[in-house]
Amino acid sequence: MFRLDNDTLAFRFTATLTNRNGSRFERLTSPQRLELWLRANDLMDTPTTATEDDLRGAQDLREAIHRIGTAVCEDRRASRADVGIVNTASELGDAHLVLESGRALWKSAGDNPIRDALSIVAADAIAVLGGPDHDRVKACQGDGCTGLYVDTSRGNNRRWCSMNICGNKAKKSAMTARAD
Ligand SMILES: [Zn+2]
Repeated sequence: MFRLDNDTLAFRFTATLTNRNGSRFERLTSPQRLELWLRANDLMDTPTTATEDDLRGAQDLREAIHRIGTAVCEDRRASRADVGIVNTASELGDAHLVLESGRALWKSAGDNPIRDALSIVAADAIAVLGGPDHDRVKACQGDGCTGLYVDTSRGNNRRWCSMNICGNKAKKSAMTARAD
């Protein structure tokens, strides 16, 4: 199961690996799973077959986004290598947005739909991490989660990447602790 409840595309992508600080849980376990994720997020509508190289490239991009996001949360400068990975991924893509039956869809214009789709994720990461919302980028306080999100709450006091998953877990353990 993918976790698709993050409003920020780039962070939805980083959530394909969870618990980076603990029992790492990888959801992009094969090139086919990468394809599935890209389709589930409306980033690719062309038939194509992802390769092991595509998967490795996607995972490298994902981890670079996650490291930069974590640096932004902690008010640190991101590594140049990571910035390079994200910028290159953004640069290499050739995709455009179209309106189709009332729905916004990404179309690949290049010869590599996977690369085009990943460039959309990279561009989204750049817009979030370097845009007006960058000081609302936060790391989930859920136990070991390490998920990133943009805190759009009015009080700027949201603590979890997902209310349904990490928020509920935290509430449950607080209740258990009180019951003990
Ligand atoms: Zn979380």
